[in-house]
Amino acid sequence: MLTNEYVKRVYDQVQKRDGDQPEFLQAVYEVLDTLQPVIAKHPEYEANGVLERLVEPERVVKFRVAWVDDAGKVQVNRGYRVQFNSAIGPYKGGLRFHPTVNEGVIKFLGFEQILKNSLTTLPMGGGKGGSDFDPKGKSDAEVMRFCQAFMTELNRHIGQFTDVPAGDINVGAREIGYLFGQYKRIRNEYSGVLTGKGLEFGGSLARTEATGYGLCYYTAEALRVLKNDSFEGKTVVISGSGNVAIFATEKAQELGAKVVTASDSNGYVYDPDGIKLDIVKDIKLGHRGRIKEYAERVPGAEYHEGCAGVWTVPCDIALPCATQNEIDEASAEALVKNGCKVVCEGANMPSTPEAIAVYQKNGLLYGPAKAANAGGVAVSGLEMSQNSYRLSWTFEETDAKLKSIMESIVAESLAAAKEYGEEGDLMAGANIAGFVKVANAMVAQGIL
Ligand code: NDP
Repeated sequence: MLTNEYVKRVYDQVQKRDGDQPEFLQAVYEVLDTLQPVIAKHPEYEANGVLERLVEPERVVKFRVAWVDDAGKVQVNRGYRVQFNSAIGPYKGGLRFHPTVNEGVIKFLGFEQILKNSLTTLPMGGGKGGSDFDPKGKSDAEVMRFCQAFMTELNRHIGQFTDVPAGDINVGAREIGYLFGQYKRIRNEYSGVLTGKGLEFGGSLARTEATGYGLCYYTAEALRVLKNDSFEGKTVVISGSGNVAIFATEKAQELGAKVVTASDSNGYVYDPDGIKLDIVKDIKLGHRGRIKEYAERVPGAEYHEGCAGVWTVPCDIALPCATQNEIDEASAEALVKNGCKVVCEGANMPSTPEAIAVYQKNGLLYGPAKAANAGGVAVSGLEMSQNSYRLSWTFEETDAKLKSIMESIVAESLAAAKEYGEEGDLMAGANIAGFVKVANAMVAQGIL
């Protein structure tokens, strides 16, 4: 609950200005709520207007993306780039292509990104972008033409020292390749302007795996420190079957857990013997198919329509890896009732505030997205370093750096939580640790 007068004033203002952006309001409320002890202890943040500046993006770019489909018909989508905060480095954050994308969704993601990037300890500010373009059912040529049209406008707002986008939902290696090609063609410049690039043109080993692997490194470390436990022998429920879900499944299995589910926006599969990841990869990465196909190919596996049902599957650990607000109060209660003790978030803001309250009331180990899924942007930061040095590190070297960053995020979060009287609270700790660094940089740089 907001009790601090300054914090309340700032939130009221956001509500007044952005009342039509529910996801953004949700993200801001959660952060402001946990920052109250910090604000109370540091009057300089109020004196320098840090919070009212933090919740207002430095720049929002919204543009028309016109392209021609395979039937020769003109299509028009909306493109966005929110350059939220550059106090500690160039804007950095992914691009999402999904019909649900609007300004509020991109603002919530950009806002979360500020604190997430700060937590990685790498010099990256916060940004996010995307479009309401839906790549489902589009041909490769259509996706290429869309990406080229999108970059034709976006290129004038980004650059290796200004803003470095990456992938997110429906923006993977194929899309990053087309976007990079178009940037190079327009600017006649070969630079590390995007991350998540192919290995042949400046990409980093371990970037593809980074978010999912990082989520498991984070979860394993939190389990070790807070519960003296591990993934070994645990049953794990994972939602989604995209980039984050696939590599979270791979690492959880490697660490000795049995992952029993995978899902997409149509439904979920339950495999009591453990998900065969090569089949999921073949369906999703091989031919962009639907997860239903898994149950047709694997004897003993079941398919259920509707993705929310995945949270009724009994498990020890849940790793939501699909999308925002995919776990509501009822799903959180089902998880608890069926024995779940740990929820760590691969997706951005997958739990509603009511779901988080259920975790807290029942003493679950809860790892919030901005800490638990920071591995993706961390390795994107490492990709930027390699591009600047014009060299590439080995997979093992990059993966070891990722693991150490995720472990230090757990330590940083717990230390910040303890300092402000919220011992053991990974959510408050992540928000506080991420915020303090950005806030101090904003104070030092003057009123901008
Ligand atoms: P992908 O596009 O690779 O996969 C997304 C998965 O989530 C698909 O299985 C998709 O199913 C499912 N999904 C998407 N929207 C919905 C929806 N509205 N309801 C149910 N299921 C849905 O994306 P990523 O794996 O890259 O991203 C997943 C999450 O992780 C997102 O929240 C993203 O912001 C977050 N994230 C990603 C990072 C990265 O490095 N890629 C970094 C940090 C966070 P379908 O195919 O049916 O749409």
